[in-house]
Amino acid sequence: MSWQSVFENIADVIYPPACLGCSNILQPEKEKYFCGNCHQQIKYLNENICPVCGIAFLDSPAGNHLCGHCLEQRPYFSISRAVAAYEKVILEAIRKFKYGRDLSVGSILASFMADFQFPDFDYRNYSLIVPVPLHIKKLRQRGFNQSVILAQALKKKWQIPLNYFLLKRTKSTLTQTGLHKKEREKNIKGAFEVTRAKDVQDKNIILLDDVYTTGATLNECAKTLRKAGAKDIAVLTLARVL
Ligand SMILES: [Zn+2]
Ligand SMILES: [Zn+2]
Repeated sequence: MSWQSVFENIADVIYPPACLGCSNILQPEKEKYFCGNCHQQIKYLNENICPVCGIAFLDSPAGNHLCGHCLEQRPYFSISRAVAAYEKVILEAIRKFKYGRDLSVGSILASFMADFQFPDFDYRNYSLIVPVPLHIKKLRQRGFNQSVILAQALKKKWQIPLNYFLLKRTKSTLTQTGLHKKEREKNIKGAFEVTRAKDVQDKNIILLDDVYTTGATLNECAKTLRKAGAKDIAVLTLARVL
């Protein structure tokens, strides 16, 4: 047993792992991240999805097929995948992390995300992880960027470099909450810039965020990276609004 696992075991006795949903103590060996009850409420997005943007067609007998949005207009990213639907226990856990500023919940959510097998996605095709940046004003307010915390777990697991200075949010926009897809697209247009174009040249990049809502922000980031010379963009998020 390594020293690290000795310390982890001691920490588990002092602070036994709790469910990210209901905070009940987890049963070691049997449960990880969520208790059985909360786990059952999670809608994992691993089948019946759009092969491009990853939206789920719940209970669709047609299996994977292109959605209307992607048929009409392809996004600037080639693939987008999320672990689960943004509802119930996942929504609560993300809120605890983001608005309750609970960074320990954040780092466990990050491992949960890194453990997920994203369908039709092979991380070995990518050589750089870029988290969606916050505007400096928002960063000061919150004290941390949630997507950087998630990105750190993927970086560690997949051994892919992470660059959180590459993409910069230059425009502080009004909140996107309550806006429709078209309004969001307009609101976010021109909000990002690449700080060193030579670092994105011909790169396959994983763009990372906590929640995929309409995809307007992620598509604008992907567009900015592509225009600066990136070859391919994959989007990964923890949750997705359905
Ligand atoms: Zn639970
Ligand atoms: Zn789609």
